[in-house]
Amino acid sequence: MQYKVGIGYDIHRLTEGRPLFLGGVQIPYIKGLLGHSDGDALIHALGDALLGALALGDIGEHFPDTDPKYQGIASSKLLAVVKGLVDKSGYEINNLDVVIIAQEPPILPFKKQMKDNIASLLGVKEEMVNIKAKTNEGLGAVGNKEAIACYAIASLIKAEG
Ligand code: MG
Repeated sequence: MQYKVGIGYDIHRLTEGRPLFLGGVQIPYIKGLLGHSDGDALIHALGDALLGALALGDIGEHFPDTDPKYQGIASSKLLAVVKGLVDKSGYEINNLDVVIIAQEPPILPFKKQMKDNIASLLGVKEEMVNIKAKTNEGLGAVGNKEAIACYAIASLIKAEG
């Protein structure tokens, strides 16, 4: 077997008057993530992890935030494009692991939905996707509820030959 791994990170500012999307799931909260797209930091981190494993740069190169085409776009659509690149590579997703760092709102009630949604978007089994969530212990911009950050790692696998 041949393996590849990639890492991804993203942070978006929380602002009033925007819906909050994480992992393609809309979470009720007084603020949402600011961004050219829907600001889904989880999907952006995951997309970068997958692109990283493929050595194909980052989502900023593939989906420039200067392109009006991506204005307000659902990040799940961007992930579908990245999934196409994974398929083209001949590798399959082995597993994905994500860390959400959010002081608010509580993520736990939405983790299962996010996991199922990501698995469905990428066409993998739920047990290949893990979502972890933590606060920032009140420290810094994330701890001060000004932003939500996400880390992701992706492992890809290909049968030899
Ligand atoms: Mg982003």
